[in-house]
Formats: sequence, structure tokens, C-alpha cells
Amino acid sequence: MVKKYKGKYCGVPQCKNFYNKEKGISMHRVPAFILKSPLLKKKWMHVLRMGKEFPKNFFICSTHFLDKYIITSQKSKLTFLSRAAFPTENLPSSIVTKRSKTPRRILQRIVEDKSYEM
Ligand SMILES: [Zn+2]
Repeated sequence: MVKKYKGKYCGVPQCKNFYNKEKGISMHRVPAFILKSPLLKKKWMHVLRMGKEFPKNFFICSTHFLDKYIITSQKSKLTFLSRAAFPTENLPSSIVTKRSKTPRRILQRIVEDKSYEM
């Protein structure tokens, strides 16, 4: 199925979306200013579980962004990412199951705080 499709598809690990107007899925390139900033690029690569640099033809689909970050041009009807866009939705699941690095001391303090309320 995917082979027949010649258009863009999402390059995010575990995401199999491709451009679908009916479903409202649009494809976006990683903004140039993200790629130019080592810090921002690192953040994106981390949340998207990219083990290496973004490939040249990397696209990310709109399902990884909140609606407010997807801007539709009234004139051209094209969608593009807001400058503040950051992928927070439908991220690769390994990020959810990663081991918590919260130190034990902080966890204990949270429990204590809760007991104060009671
Ligand atoms: Zn995707």
C-alpha cells in the first residue's frame, strides 16, 4: 500500500501516516531554524526518538502537533507550522515507558505533601 503511494509520508518512528487531505493530515518539514539550532534540533530529535540526524527528505505529520501550531494560509490553503511549534502528540511510545529519573528523595517529598492535605 505504502509502496504505491508516491507522496510524502511521516518520518517519525512508529508513525505510518501519510498526507491525507480527508483526514486533515498534512506533512511538514522540520523548520529551517530548528535545524540551524543545535539545541532545538537536539530537543526535536529527542522527543521524536531520532537516533541520528534528520534525513534530507524528512517529513513530520500534523498529528504530532497541537492544532494551534498548524496554521492554514487563507490564500493558498496550504498548511504550515507555527514558529512555536513543538511535537508533543502521538510521539513514539518508548518515550512514555522510559525509566523515571526522579530521585527517590523528591518522590518521598511528594508523598509527604499529600499527607498534609489530609
Ligand atoms: Zn506522523
